[in-house]
Amino acid sequence: MERSGAADKDAAPPPTAVTQQDGGDIFSFITPTEFVDLPSQGLRYPERHPLHKIATIEIRHMTAKEEDILTSESLIKKGIALDRLVQAVVVDKSIKPEDLLIGDKNAVLIAARITGFGSQYHTSLTCPSCTTINETTLDLDDLQSKELTDLPENVTATEEGNYVITLPDFNDLEVEVRLLTGHDERFIMKKREKRRKLKLADTNVTDQLTAIIARVNEITDPALLAQFSEQVPTRVSREIRNTYEELVPDLDMTFGFECDNCGHVGKVGMPITADFFWPDI
Ligand SMILES: [Zn+2]
Repeated sequence: MERSGAADKDAAPPPTAVTQQDGGDIFSFITPTEFVDLPSQGLRYPERHPLHKIATIEIRHMTAKEEDILTSESLIKKGIALDRLVQAVVVDKSIKPEDLLIGDKNAVLIAARITGFGSQYHTSLTCPSCTTINETTLDLDDLQSKELTDLPENVTATEEGNYVITLPDFNDLEVEVRLLTGHDERFIMKKREKRRKLKLADTNVTDQLTAIIARVNEITDPALLAQFSEQVPTRVSREIRNTYEELVPDLDMTFGFECDNCGHVGKVGMPITADFFWPDI
């Protein structure tokens, strides 16, 4: 054991050698970094995850290399441009964008956008009352994380990082859910696109349920769980989804809104459209 330990030490190149080999990092000193507050505060990751109990993540400011990613048609077509962007700006390369909880990934994307193009986001919002399109400028610095509360009484965490919801009103039904990551988000998007291409109706509610449910009582078979998602009574599925929303960390992406046309006042969700990263278009 001692010998192999010594050999490992000898094998590790000195830090300066690493910097010289990796030409891409020679100028890293001119790119500032900053810490982004994670909506999860690291509290929703299992122990094996690099962000377990870590409340912030360090990102590099955007550079021309990241602009290349954002303008790469092939990456955009594959729907992975934003993931690549996250991967490029996160300093700790042991953190994979697909393993980030979606809310944390959104926080990284928005912080990266601010480092590249500032916090002013010019976009159009559709009035929920009269459907008039209102041109508006939002300030991304105003976005706050949803408050992360303690686990509700009927919820327990598992070692794998899932959460078991017990539903006393429904024969103590036990539903184990996983919090969605970038990986799940991509999977759901692909499924949705496939249905659109086949001109099938959207199945957003069942898709979300299928994605989050890992176990129902003793049942873990994916085909049976998919059946459960389709057949579960609305009252039960609402309870599951509401509890999930309480558990899942996220940014509050809604803004106060007043319609220029009809005067409607309310909250609307911030759209992340193409102009989110291309403010000049
Ligand atoms: Zn209106």
